[in-house]
Amino acid sequence: MLDIAQLRLAAAGVDAPRRDARLLLAAAMEVEEAALLADPGRCVAVEAAQRFADYLEQRVTRRPVSRILGVREFWSLTFEIGPGVLDPRPDTETLVEAALAHVDASGHGREAAWRVLDLGTGSGCLLLALLSELPNATGLGLERDPEAAAIARANAARHGLDTRAQVRAEAWEEVEGAQVDLIVSNPPYVRRGEIQDLAPEVTRYDPWSALDGGPDGLDAYRDLVPRLAGWLAPGGQVFLEVGHDQGGEVQALLQGAGLRTPAGVCDLAGNLRCVRAAAA
Ligand code: GLN
Repeated sequence: MLDIAQLRLAAAGVDAPRRDARLLLAAAMEVEEAALLADPGRCVAVEAAQRFADYLEQRVTRRPVSRILGVREFWSLTFEIGPGVLDPRPDTETLVEAALAHVDASGHGREAAWRVLDLGTGSGCLLLALLSELPNATGLGLERDPEAAAIARANAARHGLDTRAQVRAEAWEEVEGAQVDLIVSNPPYVRRGEIQDLAPEVTRYDPWSALDGGPDGLDAYRDLVPRLAGWLAPGGQVFLEVGHDQGGEVQALLQGAGLRTPAGVCDLAGNLRCVRAAAA
């Protein structure tokens, strides 16, 4: 069953056809992937086989496994996703690591009452991953798309973080008077002319508004950067995700706005992925 599925997915251009076939079969059978690996000849019930066939039809259209199953793991937490939210990427975990490293180096410890602001929160993955590590932190996530904001709220409730995380269906232009310790954001940063070159999983299924960074990919940063200093409490820091080759340009924008840019953090591929900023 897996062999044929793998061949179909490979023919459709899927990157890791064996793994995806196994993930979908495990989900269809409602077993862990490890159980399938341990016992590949396991017998498949009719309903599970039908479900698997349906999942495969979807994956052949390059719909990502996460969107077929409606969930994505991020920071070892399960996030519900939907059409209005960007599918969380492993690269974005770099921002969580960077913000936690700052917390650990601050001398205040993870138990302090950190205040977090997440701009363009999408599924809520950045805000909620941070609150899951900082037991007394509170946070505000802003998300323009009301459907995505509803998903972020559902994710907060799913992880028992809804008493500490507030999600507002607003644009970041509307934040006033915020004074926070940690600002995180994964804004849209793909150069408009390059969106069409991304994988079909991205171009067909991620929301355009979460990808499109304008002609040079920097529109969202140009809008965001001048506002940051006004939202930072003393000692606060900003953690911005950037495209693999945009680190220098975004640091220059931040410096131009009078902010300091301590060394950023690289992703697993070695690209500067998280740019940091603080009040001068
Ligand atoms: N990392 C995403 C991609 O390249 C882009 C997300 C974004 O623009 N913030 O597919």
